[in-house]
Parts: sequence; C-alpha cells; structure tokens
Amino acid sequence: MAVNLTNYRHVQEKLQPFHAQLVAVSKTKPAGSIQALYDAGQRIFGENYVQEMVEKEGLLPKDIQWHFIGHLQSNKVKYIAPFVSMVHGVDSLKLLQEINKQAAKNGRVIDCLLQVHIATEETKFGLNEAELNALLENAAGLPNVRIAGLMGMASNTDDLAQVRREFRQLKALQVAVADRFFKGTDTFRELSMGMSGDFEIALEEGSTLVRIGSLLFGARNYA
Ligand SMILES: *Cc1c(COP(=O)(O)O)cnc(C)c1O
Repeated sequence: MAVNLTNYRHVQEKLQPFHAQLVAVSKTKPAGSIQALYDAGQRIFGENYVQEMVEKEGLLPKDIQWHFIGHLQSNKVKYIAPFVSMVHGVDSLKLLQEINKQAAKNGRVIDCLLQVHIATEETKFGLNEAELNALLENAAGLPNVRIAGLMGMASNTDDLAQVRREFRQLKALQVAVADRFFKGTDTFRELSMGMSGDFEIALEEGSTLVRIGSLLFGARNYA
C-alpha cells in the first residue's frame, strides 16, 4: 500500500507553525493505504464520494474523523450523517437544512463549511459573496449544524500570484462574515483551502485545514 510517509512528515512539519490541520484526501485509494497513514498518526481523512466513504468507514478504525469534501447531494446526506465529522462543500441552504435534519435524527451536531467560488473557472461549485450573505441571513434555527467556516478551491493555474490573491480574498471574506454573523461566538474560525500543489501558499494566507491527496497517496488513476 504505497503511502509516502516522507511527504506526510514534511507536510506535518509545514503545518505546525500555522497550527493548521491536515485532511488526508484518500478518495479512490484503498482502505489499506488509509490504515497505513492512520498507523503513522493521521486521524482526519477526506473523501468525495458518498458510497466510497461509507464503505471505508465500515472497514477502518472508529476514531477516524471523516470529512466529506466533494459535492454532496441532499438525497445522500442520510448515508453519512451517522458518522461524518465535517462537510466542506455546503453551497445551498437546502443542503444545510437537510444536514441539520439528518444530524438531528442521529442525535448529532455536524460541522459544515460553506463553499465559496474563488477560482476563475466557471465549472467549480460554490457561492459568490451575495449568495453567501443571503444563505447566512436565512440559516438561523438549525441547531444540529455548526457553521464552522469557509472552504474554497483556487484556480488550476501555474500563476501562483493569482492563487495567492484568491486565497487572500477567501480569508478576507471569512473575517468579514465572522464579524457580521458570528461576533462573540467561538465558531466560524475554519478556512479550508490548499491542496497538494498550493498548500504552502494557502497556509501563508490563513488556511486552517489543508486538503492533500496526491502528495501523500500518489497520483490518482481514474481509468
Ligand atoms: C481531490 C481533492 C483534493 C486533493 O487534491 P490533491 O491535488 O491530490 O492534493 C482537495 N480538495 C478537493 C475538494 C478534492 O476533490
């Protein structure tokens, strides 16, 4: 089970001064690879397909914190609600309400991050600033979700100055929203940004959760 423990230790060293956490993105990788990284000390794993995450959860240690990082369909929330620790890509009030409902059925509170569209590409999911504010204005009275912060994906580009600008924009938005909607609370502190290719820039710009796959598990093969 190929897991790059040298890269794992390197990433952990980079995170330490920033007090950021690693979400090890294990999508498409076998349970044995996850177990190998677990044995090295990792506890947070990210998946982006519901069925795959449910299967792996059944096979692996119960103290793993499972983060759902993909696009979650409302009708599938019920399958992961019994165990999911955080949902990174919430981009509608309807989805947030469904997570609240399913979390309540399981007697749980589920951490959620609202996904903001920061990249220039049209295809990526996420809210713009106006939509984000509108969602938050209507998100009161959902006791079984905890809106923990924001998530974003930078443009897929070699222009690292642009990537940095996009991360900086997301951080500024988090600060503004925290001030407007979460003043005096201890929530809305999380900022999920940065992947294998750009996590160091993300850390410098205020990331608290980096989502790293290929650096740890090798390139993915979707064939
Ligand atoms: C796959 C994926 C990652 C990890 O990407 P790597 O480039 O392999 O580190 C991070 N975030 C999301 C949302 C993903 O789907």
